[in-house]
Amino acid sequence: MSIKGTYDPDNIFAKILRGEMPCVKVYEDDHTLAFMDVFPQSRGHMLVIHKQEQARNMLDVSADGLAQIMASVQKLTRAAEQALSPDGIIITQFNGAPAGQTVFHLHFHIIPKYAGDLKAHASGGMADMDELTAIANLIKAAV
Ligand code: AMP
Repeated sequence: MSIKGTYDPDNIFAKILRGEMPCVKVYEDDHTLAFMDVFPQSRGHMLVIHKQEQARNMLDVSADGLAQIMASVQKLTRAAEQALSPDGIIITQFNGAPAGQTVFHLHFHIIPKYAGDLKAHASGGMADMDELTAIANLIKAAV
């Protein structure tokens, strides 16, 4: 997928937003949704997306939409720190397939980092759903 292109309304995050696919939700407000990554690179790996912006990546999103996403990214980063006590937290965002993007609805990764324990991007196996829900509940309680 090129860095430039047309938004595909059938991408997996658009389906989650329409309720056609499940997700383990952590947080939602009028403009943004945060949910657990099902192939987590670490304990507490979350994704934050905009609910209305049809943006494939950073180039497409409005400044206001980006500000709304980043406000939620900060909120969830603080909650993850409080709930999970990681040693560090990585925020990542990829633009275009050559950069590592696989889902073409703009999203930010929040990846808690524990000393000596971090999988590389897109290298994790699928999470156990009960475990993911338990972690999501810990973070939810700290939002
Ligand atoms: P990226 O490679 O930056 O486009 O990241 C896409 C992320 O979405 C990856 O970390 C995937 O593990 C994650 N992912 C893919 N499908 C789902 C899904 N149905 N629910 C939650 N996370 C997903």
